Amino acid sequence: MSADIKSQRGGSELLFGSPIWDGHNRITLSDSDIPCDADIVVIGGGFTGLSVAFELAKNGRNVVLLESSYVGYGASARNAGFCTIGPSASASSVLDTYGINEGKQYFHWFLKAVEKIEALIINEALDVDWTVSGRLSLARSARQSERLKRNFQIQREHFKFPGEFIEGDELQEHICARGFVSAISDNVSACLNPLKLVDELLRIAKREGASIHENTPVIKLKESSFDVEVHHKHGVLRARQVVIATNGYTEPMGISANNFTIPLGSFIVATDPLSLEAQKLLLPTGKVSSTISNFSNYFRLLKDGTLLFGGRKSLTSNGDLDVISKELRLAAHELFGDVIDIPEIAKCWGGRLAFTRDRTPLVGKVTERILFAGGYCGHGVPTSVSAGFTLARYIQNGQYQDCPFFSHSIRASTVNWMGGKLAPLISMYYRRQDYLELN
Ligand SMILES: Cc1cc2nc3c(=O)[nH]c(=O)nc-3n(C[C@H](O)[C@H](O)[C@H](O)COP(=O)(O)OP(=O)(O)OC[C@H]3O[C@@H](n4cnc5c(N)ncnc54)[C@H](O)[C@@H]3O)c2cc1C
Repeated sequence: MSADIKSQRGGSELLFGSPIWDGHNRITLSDSDIPCDADIVVIGGGFTGLSVAFELAKNGRNVVLLESSYVGYGASARNAGFCTIGPSASASSVLDTYGINEGKQYFHWFLKAVEKIEALIINEALDVDWTVSGRLSLARSARQSERLKRNFQIQREHFKFPGEFIEGDELQEHICARGFVSAISDNVSACLNPLKLVDELLRIAKREGASIHENTPVIKLKESSFDVEVHHKHGVLRARQVVIATNGYTEPMGISANNFTIPLGSFIVATDPLSLEAQKLLLPTGKVSSTISNFSNYFRLLKDGTLLFGGRKSLTSNGDLDVISKELRLAAHELFGDVIDIPEIAKCWGGRLAFTRDRTPLVGKVTERILFAGGYCGHGVPTSVSAGFTLARYIQNGQYQDCPFFSHSIRASTVNWMGGKLAPLISMYYRRQDYLELN
């Protein structure tokens, strides 16, 4: 990473710490020479925004991407790099809301999201440390196991989910710690280095001709029947269409865009590397893993034996990194203390993601000229790229039918606004639910 980029990346680190990831060297982007008009303005330089910009520029559209800080400032360069096939919503809620046929399409969209990112990586020769690791989704009590099994049966019976339900000795082949009762296991999910993916998406979007500008926050959007005025820090830009790709970092921008979803925080610790023996005891088959509590923990091993261990103690996105680091180390000890000693914490960092109430991403139109994609509920690595491609295709030819949750009327919601304000109370409610399910 160049010194320039390192110093630019300092801003987010003040709030959320600096992630463990090493990216590629890349050119510094300017905040000058911003055009006065464009076919499409994309707001936000994470996976969503870069994917839309790449896909549209590749198809000959005049695209300008404006990023308030630096490309990769948000969650895209700060996540754990899990690229998993299942949605955040439970299979039973998908079945209730969408029925069998649309539900199948719903699950297919998430499965395809991982296939699409893999195809992009192969076709564009992206260097992002892509590894098809498989995944474990873990239950820690009899009650959780019942819930997991019910969900698995619906997924298997109706949605052709390519995984299996495992317990007992079969589970021990994948995770030796005794506190786990059962898991849904798949061999399709993958993992990658998220900062490298940001840098590679930036590279190919620029190569296709997208005009990308950092340090350029968008302040207000004003729509007329002809275009949208995009008011940014350095002036005004007119666009035929605007894509808002700001996820957990969304500002109101004059249209209450901050209340489309509910922003939450998530944090990760990286330990000193584990010995080979400890790695084999912890995750012998190297699958990326997570628990299924409301306040779930997710973990994976990096190539050098570093354990990444993430989660949330609260729904709020602020907190003291020293305290969070100790809490996460304790949580790791609670899960694996019977088989390994948790090494010292080398790094702790976090970022903001966005949730929706039905745990389904929000992708579609706010108005005729303003589109939005976000609310990936913690599954944003594959889904943000896929949502970006879905919006790009909709902009080009009006096609959206393969996305069963594409919305034609995304609205700000007071309930989302309240959700943000009442996060500490809601946290207590979910923590109590977790306690009851685990004890
Ligand atoms: C700690 C953590 C761990 C995670 N782990 C995983 C994981 O392992 N797997 C997974 O699938 N998902 C994970 N996620 C979620 C995933 O990272 C996100 O869903 C995804 O990166 C969202 O990408 P995005 O491009 O939509 O938003 P972001 O990457 O957050 O980018 C939004 C950008 O918009 C910019 N912006 C905001 N307002 C403006 C404005 N007014 N003008 C211009 N620019 C603006 C911001 O500066 C930011 O750069 C994790 C998230 C966090 C925080």
